[in-house]
Amino acid sequence: MTAPLLPGATIGIIGGGQLGRMLAMAAARLGYRTIVLEPQADCPAAQLANSQIVAAYDDEAALAELAARADVITYEFENVPVAAARRIEVQTAVFPPPLALEKAQDRLTEKRLLNALGISTADFRAVDNDAALAEALAGFGGSGVLKTRRLGYDGKGQRVFRNATADDCRGVFDAMGGVPLILEALVDFDCEFSIIAARDGDGTKRAYDAARNVHQGGILRSSTVPAGLAPAMAEQARRATFALLDGLDYVGVIGLEFFALADGRALVNEYAPRVHNSGHWTEAACTVSQFEQHIRAVAGLPLGDPRRHGDCVMENLIGDEVGNAPDLLRESDLMLHLYGKAEARPGRKMGHFTRLSKG
Ligand code: AMP
Repeated sequence: MTAPLLPGATIGIIGGGQLGRMLAMAAARLGYRTIVLEPQADCPAAQLANSQIVAAYDDEAALAELAARADVITYEFENVPVAAARRIEVQTAVFPPPLALEKAQDRLTEKRLLNALGISTADFRAVDNDAALAEALAGFGGSGVLKTRRLGYDGKGQRVFRNATADDCRGVFDAMGGVPLILEALVDFDCEFSIIAARDGDGTKRAYDAARNVHQGGILRSSTVPAGLAPAMAEQARRATFALLDGLDYVGVIGLEFFALADGRALVNEYAPRVHNSGHWTEAACTVSQFEQHIRAVAGLPLGDPRRHGDCVMENLIGDEVGNAPDLLRESDLMLHLYGKAEARPGRKMGHFTRLSKG
């Protein structure tokens, strides 16, 4: 493995949202400088980074500048153009590897990769027109979740079918934007959970405890740790996570979302090649947070111990809920984190807090 980055070195971050902000904070604590590439000026990450390049993620000149000024480059969202990541990695290392981005950007290639690595997912079919949808739905007994293959997040670009017939499929392909789609079998899950884990350049892997996640309207509401999973299921999920990390020759933190089934199986819904909202609890309940773990991995430093020192619940503050912040701060054993976003629009993640259980 290459030598660790020395304090004072610069980490480039593509994307300027709250994840980039928390990565910049963790990097600063380890003595690094950060530079953020993000089209929106004064974005959450740039408020804490040393500098910002205000430009589009695929702006050639801006990417060249980032590669020239940074000693290593990482990213905080999965829709970084893969071609851009590959172009700059010739000059400056990019972690996680662009292959992880490429596979995650298309739900079809993502599921095929997972299955090829022996990791279970819901059954799925590619759908490129209404007739293919009708056929796929018939194969799944009339139920399924139809999703755009690319650029979907937080439940956007999805449609759920129950007891559907061919008639229900008419016009759906166009209504979904005429883009490539995937139909997944509708999973009747007991609960959703996630595993946040890391791998370094030597192949060492560390996983945090699973978090039980509750979504509302496709947006993460809360993450509870411990997740209350049967030990065999937690172990199955950890193994799947490590198989994916090795399969991608991954460096950095990854987040995998799972469905827990009543029969004891855990199916992967998707993975995010980055730090993840359902891992925010680690900043309050672990000595080394997911953000520091990621910075350690990409900087070539030893990974930290992912053990937690308590039980906790993380909740997102969405839209106007950010107004509850002063009241929350009256509580002891609560860590609040606000993202520095000026406008509290509905559905916008403005911050989060983690309540630690008094043990
Ligand atoms: P996603 O955009 O894939 O993260 O999906 C958002 C949410 O929709 C998930 O967290 C689940 O609650 C639900 N969901 C997604 N895919 C399925 C599925 N195949 N079966 C049942 N629920 C699903």
